[in-house]
Amino acid sequence: MNTTTLKPAPRVGFVSLGCPKALVDSERIITNLRSEGYDIAPDYQGADIVVVNTCGFIESAVNESLDAIGEALAENGRVIVTGCLGAKKEVILEKHPQVLEVTGPHAYEEVMRAVHKHLPPSTDPFTSLVPAQGIKLTPKHYAYLKISEGCNHTCTFCIIPSMRGKLKSRMIDEVLTEAHKLKQAGVKEILIISQDTSAYGIDTKYEERTWQQESLKTKFFDLCKALSEFGIWVRLHYVYPYPHVDEIVQFMKEGALLPYLDIPFQHANPRILKLMKRPASSENNLERIKAWRAVCPDLTIRSTFIVGFPGETEAEFEELLDFLRSAQLDRVGCFKYSPVEGAKANDLPDPVPEEVKETRYHRFMEVQSEISAARLAMKIGKTMQVLVDEIREDAAIARSSSDAPEIDGLVFIDNAAHLKPGQFVQVKIIDADEYDLFAELL
Ligand code: SF4
Repeated sequence: MNTTTLKPAPRVGFVSLGCPKALVDSERIITNLRSEGYDIAPDYQGADIVVVNTCGFIESAVNESLDAIGEALAENGRVIVTGCLGAKKEVILEKHPQVLEVTGPHAYEEVMRAVHKHLPPSTDPFTSLVPAQGIKLTPKHYAYLKISEGCNHTCTFCIIPSMRGKLKSRMIDEVLTEAHKLKQAGVKEILIISQDTSAYGIDTKYEERTWQQESLKTKFFDLCKALSEFGIWVRLHYVYPYPHVDEIVQFMKEGALLPYLDIPFQHANPRILKLMKRPASSENNLERIKAWRAVCPDLTIRSTFIVGFPGETEAEFEELLDFLRSAQLDRVGCFKYSPVEGAKANDLPDPVPEEVKETRYHRFMEVQSEISAARLAMKIGKTMQVLVDEIREDAAIARSSSDAPEIDGLVFIDNAAHLKPGQFVQVKIIDADEYDLFAELL
């Protein structure tokens, strides 16, 4: 008879705020914790300690992070803070001096050290089992794969490079091994993320590595080519419109990569782009979009824009609206410019008054929602493959190649409760609104 009683594993609560990149950091920390025998507690009460992964991108995110830290302190009392806001330790300690430790973004080792210090790990091997692909916070059938950290650009509205440092790419064999494990674990869609996906590998001088007996460069093209042979959905986020992206659109045309590009254009007026110091700002984006669509007519382009950047005149804003009308982008997000502490753009003259920003935001959204609705209406009558995300009552909620999780639209399929999340099915589109499609099963 085995008389050994298993000691309960130490339990860590985890609060993850911010963008998909922060989510990947959280996944990595949680994977490390689980591999060392920690359990992840689903609520504050069941946790021995709480890690809060914060975002510090804009003022509202800072406030949200500070509130989340406050809540964790009130509900649990033992809190370690990490993530982007962790780079501003003094802001956190001023408001919440009781936090146990503060570490910065991308500081996995430091977070682990802080957890070890305040909650030593269990040594029980039975609690140390962890799946090979790591622990994922997304549903089982899709996963974010971060290919690099940091950024070599100096966009004036952004403080990410000062928080996360210069571009640091993961080696291609490491990235492909992770992608392979994800596929083997049943993942059907991989979302490639970074701060600048098209710059992947530049910092490594395109170092060569061997993966599955093949010599590959740590380079955007080689990565896309290798991923295009995986036979699952691969979606590229945060790509800049450089000429070398043209070759990748070929893979999309052949159906080997999802015909989807997430390109944060941010503006269309050359003077504003220069003031923003945007990468690839001298490229002729309209020409490039036209050329890509000629090669791959099914290409979905998602983008984000900022209105009310310091000095933006009415004529420059009108130019942005004209760009929208000509570019006919599929998915577009818009932000009113808001100063971020420490960003260079704060020193630019002629800030745009809040009420003007507000009006421009609504004018922008009005133009874009008409474009989005028209582009979705063009899909009515088409058949397409979709990936089921969840089942709600008798409907299946799915996404097409045009829809990234969380940020884009959905495809609603009636009378499809028998489908399973993670299943690919063929549907016929029967209706559309501004954001979503409605379909019937084929
Ligand atoms: S490309 Fe610009 S906006 Fe994006 S992370 Fe780098 S500096 Fe920030």
